[in-house]
Amino acid sequence: MAQQKPLSLIAIVAITRTNGLGVNGQLPWRLSREMAHFRKATSAVGENEGSKMNAVIMGRKTWQSIPPKFRPLKGRVNVVISRQSGKEAEKELGISPEEHSHLVSSLDAAADLLGSSSTPSIYRTFLIGGAQLYKEAMERERSQSWSLDKLMITRIHSPAFEECDVFLPEFRTSDQIKEDERFAGIGNDEPAIGKLKPLPEQKWSAASDQQFDQFMGGPVSHGIEEEKDVRYTFQLWDRKE
Ligand code: NDP
Repeated sequence: MAQQKPLSLIAIVAITRTNGLGVNGQLPWRLSREMAHFRKATSAVGENEGSKMNAVIMGRKTWQSIPPKFRPLKGRVNVVISRQSGKEAEKELGISPEEHSHLVSSLDAAADLLGSSSTPSIYRTFLIGGAQLYKEAMERERSQSWSLDKLMITRIHSPAFEECDVFLPEFRTSDQIKEDERFAGIGNDEPAIGKLKPLPEQKWSAASDQQFDQFMGGPVSHGIEEEKDVRYTFQLWDRKE
C-alpha cells in the first residue's frame, strides 16, 4: 500500500511585537477585519476541489474560548485536542462528530483522523491555537504523520498589549525581527525587541506579496491595517527545508 503523505499544517495566529497572543484565556483584542481574514483563510477551498473542506485543529482551551453559538466553526472540520476522552467528555465540551467536531488526544491523532474516512476529504489544515499547541507544533521535527509548513501571522505592531500571558516561540532571526520593526516604522532601539530570543539561523522565510496572494486565491492587503487604534500587518511565512 502506498505510504500516506504527512499532513501539512498551517498555523494561523495573531501576535504582538513580543509574540504575545492571549490573556486570561481570551484574545486581548477584538478586530473584525482580522477575524474576517481568519475566516476567509481557514474557510476558502481552491477551485476544482469538489466537495473538499478545510480543517481547524485547536487545543481544548481555545475551543472553550469560542462562544458556544459560534462553535464548531462552520464550514470547517473542527478537531479539538485534549487528554480527556470518551462520550462524556464530548458531551461536556459540546463536541459532536455529526456536526463535524471531533475530540482527539494528540496532534498525531488529529492527523490520523483527518487522513481517514471518518471526515470529508480535506483541502487545507490550520492549527488555530492556543499557545500550548503552537509551541508543540513549532518545536517538533517533521514526522511521517504531520509537519508544520506555514505560519500565517497577523503581526500587531501597536499597541504593545503588555498584559499578554501566553506567547508564540520566536521563529525569526534578529535580521528578520529588525525587518518587521522597520516595516512598522519602529526604531531598533525600542526596549521591546530586547525581550525576544532570535534564532541563530533562518528557519522560516517570509513569502512574497505575490506568493501570499496566490496562497489566498486573491489579493491580500500588504500594508499596515488600522482598526480601533490597533496597527497590524498580515504575513505568510514558509518553513525552509
Ligand atoms: P490551548 O488552546 O493550547 O489548550 C490547551 C489544552 O489543550 C490543554 O489543557 C489540553 O487539554 C490540550 N492539550 C495541549 N497539548 C496537548 C497534548 N500534547 N496532548 C493532549 N492534549 C493537549 O490553551 P492555551 O492556554 O495554551 O492557549 C489559549 C490562549 O491562546 C487563550 O488566551 C486564547 O485566546 C489564545 N489564542 C490566541 C490566538 C491568537 O491568534 N492570538 C489563537 C488561539 C488562541 P486538557 O486540559 O483538556 O487535557
